[in-house]
Amino acid sequence: MNESSGHERRGFETDAIRIQAERSVHREHSVPVYLTSSFLFDDAEHGRALFAEEADGAIYSRYSNPNVDEFVRKLCVMENCDDGVATATGMAAMFATFASFLNAGDHVVASRAVFGSSRQILTRILPRWGIEHTYVDPTDPREWKRAVKPNTKMFFAETPSNPGLELVDLEQVGVLAAENKALFAVDNCFATPYIQTPRAFGADIVAHSATKLIDGQGRVLGGAVLGTEKAMVEARFFARQTGPALSPFNAWLLSKSLETLGVRLDRHCANAAAVAEFLESHPKVTWVRYPFLASHPQYELARKQMRLGGALVTFELSGGIDGGKRFLDALRLFSLTANLGDTRSIATHPASTTHSKLTEQERLAVNITPGTVRLSVGIETLEDILTDLDRALSSV
Ligand SMILES: *Cc1c(COP(=O)(O)O)cnc(C)c1O
Repeated sequence: MNESSGHERRGFETDAIRIQAERSVHREHSVPVYLTSSFLFDDAEHGRALFAEEADGAIYSRYSNPNVDEFVRKLCVMENCDDGVATATGMAAMFATFASFLNAGDHVVASRAVFGSSRQILTRILPRWGIEHTYVDPTDPREWKRAVKPNTKMFFAETPSNPGLELVDLEQVGVLAAENKALFAVDNCFATPYIQTPRAFGADIVAHSATKLIDGQGRVLGGAVLGTEKAMVEARFFARQTGPALSPFNAWLLSKSLETLGVRLDRHCANAAAVAEFLESHPKVTWVRYPFLASHPQYELARKQMRLGGALVTFELSGGIDGGKRFLDALRLFSLTANLGDTRSIATHPASTTHSKLTEQERLAVNITPGTVRLSVGIETLEDILTDLDRALSSV
């Protein structure tokens, strides 16, 4: 790594832009893509030293690669973490978060409002290996505490949650985890390190889907598990042996995307805040959830642990499921697609798509009513976003 040496603490954007893989003999300004599966040894002794981890250098791209290392290094600095590993998808990162650290007989306390596939891992995969869980209301610190058992080894939180935008008090759960000598892992996908750094509140592990706001342009999948040096020894061993490696090309794109994370999120959040206010005053909208709206039930907590309100806005239309569908069909600018955190604004109807595998009861427990719509507010011109929403609302 060059341009990252020196010990002075630099600004978020400076690190995001200037942490860069070492230049090759060509003195390229922008880092090239290292599409190579393996790397040469100088001689037999060098090969031995690399394998013995006595020398620094790349061996094989399942282990490490300049583009992947640059992405991880950068994200670690932004997340205030010691070390990390990159993965091919966000779910590979979530799975590595569980599988690197948990053993048969262990227990996880998890928010019940975690990403659907994280929930499937906890509910349907880990129990096959003797790892049990208790789901809790993410917003109620007493429930987190009551769920602790003698074999609790991990607390798993996602904040803000999808699509209910409920918050977990990171500091409180961090203290609880430390008291119980358990690991505290946080899926920081919705906030990104620009908005929230869970390590600062006691998290040991920060997991990401880089597919969303980190890529930010709807192009590639990726993920990362970051954390303390000690925890990452286990995570790196797990990832190297089981092989969820991020491709060098995707790492190259994602590392470039981190350069613009701050400016993109400033615009995403400004647009989302304006959308939330617009919806709150609209007669066809029954409620709006946005962490930085004063009406959010955890507004104080949002202000404490988040720098901005994020790109997601969730609201309910008065017309129920039919109203929701009419609204989606009347949108012209917003895309109807399953992704989020893209430059393009996206509208989703969770009850019929992302959360259709849950029962009605399970959906209601995470605040998804039939008329709930989730918006991922993009960075198009604000007036055009508002015009599209206004038009679609008038057809409900
Ligand atoms: C999308 C998402 C994931 C999964 O990421 P993939 O890259 O799709 O595997 C995990 N957590 C959250 C909060 C997400 O939004």
